[in-house]
Amino acid sequence: MKNIAIAIHGGAGTITRASLTAAQEAAYTAALRDAAEAGHQLLLAGKTALDAVALAVTVLEDSPLFNAGRGAVFTSEGKHEMDAAIMCGKTLEAGAVAGVQGIRNPIALAREVMLHSEHVLLSGRGAEEFARNQGIAFAPEAYFYDAFRFRQWSEVRDSETFMLDHTAQKEKKFGTVGAVALDQNGNTAAATSTGGMTNKRYNRVGDSPIIGAGTYANDATCAISCTGHGEYFMRAVVAYDVSCLMEYKGFTLQQACEEVVLRKLVKLGGEGGLIAVNAAGELALPFNSEGMYRASKQNEEPTVVGIYKETT
Ligand code: ASP
Repeated sequence: MKNIAIAIHGGAGTITRASLTAAQEAAYTAALRDAAEAGHQLLLAGKTALDAVALAVTVLEDSPLFNAGRGAVFTSEGKHEMDAAIMCGKTLEAGAVAGVQGIRNPIALAREVMLHSEHVLLSGRGAEEFARNQGIAFAPEAYFYDAFRFRQWSEVRDSETFMLDHTAQKEKKFGTVGAVALDQNGNTAAATSTGGMTNKRYNRVGDSPIIGAGTYANDATCAISCTGHGEYFMRAVVAYDVSCLMEYKGFTLQQACEEVVLRKLVKLGGEGGLIAVNAAGELALPFNSEGMYRASKQNEEPTVVGIYKETT
């Protein structure tokens, strides 16, 4: 069989052993494993990398543990505005949505934009109207309500502070979810979905739906999904920069990822990480924060799950 590979992430930041209870660690580990293995099953069955990343991200969006879909954080207005993007490494087709409300699985809408619109990025009301016309599932406000996230928002709602996902204000933790994959035909794909940052200014858009910043895929180089402080990832054009270092400078996947995540981003002050795969099935999952929720599976090898610096 040809090489297949998948990697997923559920956000990066100040995630230390001390910050998670054993029960929380077990819950995150199980959810990450489920998402990676769901995508891997499709790859094994000969489905496309696009199918695999879309399914893995859907599994993570459906979990309240992650800041995407069901677990999306609150904006300064007390709403949920979600961003998502998907890209095909074979054709360089891409679809993305920004600031959408009430969409059950924003990644499904991003894929619909890619496949059935003339556009790459739709935002707000226009994206929601497109969703209605295309029969994309909506969910009531209550579906996105999470007591923990509401408390977290209540602590900062009257301030200018915006927080990086579900943790104490001074800590930093990012909650975006994403997936990258290589299928049996040698094609790659990337997908990212997020609720952004707690108490973010309404209509703020992060890096996740910006092709080349938080999401990118090109079979000639690599497929990438990022998580971290979006403003820095946009300014550093992170995903495309990794691809460019491979295309124009001949860097390996690992070298390119390390150059961008461990050096360029660090110099800029941008905290976070990314997951990447190339057409040879090599994976890279670098991060410059204390932890990153992640999992990967290559061919028929065991699934590898990691939260802290070392894998578990
Ligand atoms: N990158 C996302 C954003 O800035 C946040 C995250 O990764 O958690 O919207």
